[in-house]
Amino acid sequence: ESVVSRIAAGEVVIGPFSVVKELVENSIDAGANSIEIELRNGGKSYIKVKDNGHGMSKDELIIAVKEHTTSKIEKFEDIYKLSTYGFRGEALSAIARVSRLIITSSSGVESHRLEIIGGRVKSIEEYPHSRGTTIEVYDLFFNVPARRKFLKSAISEQRMVTEIVEKFILSTPQISILYKNEQEIIYHAKTGTLKERFTLVFPEVKEFTEMKGTYVSGIISSPDYYRKNRTGQIFFVQGRYVVDKMLYSVFETGYGEAITTGRHPYGVIFINIPPEKVDVNVHPQKLEVKFSNPKEIYSDIIRTIREAIKTFISK
Ligand code: ADP
Ligand code: MG
Repeated sequence: ESVVSRIAAGEVVIGPFSVVKELVENSIDAGANSIEIELRNGGKSYIKVKDNGHGMSKDELIIAVKEHTTSKIEKFEDIYKLSTYGFRGEALSAIARVSRLIITSSSGVESHRLEIIGGRVKSIEEYPHSRGTTIEVYDLFFNVPARRKFLKSAISEQRMVTEIVEKFILSTPQISILYKNEQEIIYHAKTGTLKERFTLVFPEVKEFTEMKGTYVSGIISSPDYYRKNRTGQIFFVQGRYVVDKMLYSVFETGYGEAITTGRHPYGVIFINIPPEKVDVNVHPQKLEVKFSNPKEIYSDIIRTIREAIKTFISK
């Protein structure tokens, strides 16, 4: 493996949090309804993501870790449909290049275990596994000392993973998610509703309401519940977590006089735009979103928030 390719891998693999993000997205893409995530040493020594999705055959396993291979695009236009998270076929090969990786997978018919060290296939053998896939990442960046050095403390790395896991907990109530660090359960989110997931992630919020617009939905808190930063304000566009400065301002405009400066009410807002209607451009890494008609979208969200907060104000 060349240094260049290891550095390139570092563009996709930033740290344990990005590994978890990519692996969980793959599990969701594989149709899993149960996902287990486990870390040791904040993910620096060990990351496991196990799912009960459709799994991989022996051939699919070998192809999956090759660069720029994906099973998810049939036609080029599919890239724009964003129906699955993955489409670049970079993640698994990049992770494989900068770690010791073990993938165990079963398509329900056959079941194998593939071991890769620093991008080199060490072994592939038959190995029992229930239908689905388990990916284990040992010693991230063991062969890229410059990157390894920049990993933060186990506690900080774990916190970043937790933030990612919380986004999945909120966006996929239909998938059971178990998340552990050093044998300790951080989250055990059973299959349920958005309400239940919201309460799990934000247990301090006792008063909130559900919003159901045509394409804007979610949960927002009463103005009495707020944070002094925006960590309780989460947006998903077509199911993907996005960060957009302009989007945050819908809270200020929507709540209006119900909140004072510096108080940021909680909100988990899903924007599902019919793909043929709007050109949504979500950058795969940067979490940025570009709407072709942002004004219309912001004002629709604001209208939905205003409608929803009436429940609190009328009290
Ligand atoms: P992408 O998700 O962009 O296709 P990845 O590198 O993340 O690329 O994954 C490569 C391929 O490996 C996927 O297209 C898929 O076929 C397969 N794969 C990865 N993870 C899983 C999984 N958990 N279950 C089933 N197949 C998987
Ligand atoms: Mg992927």
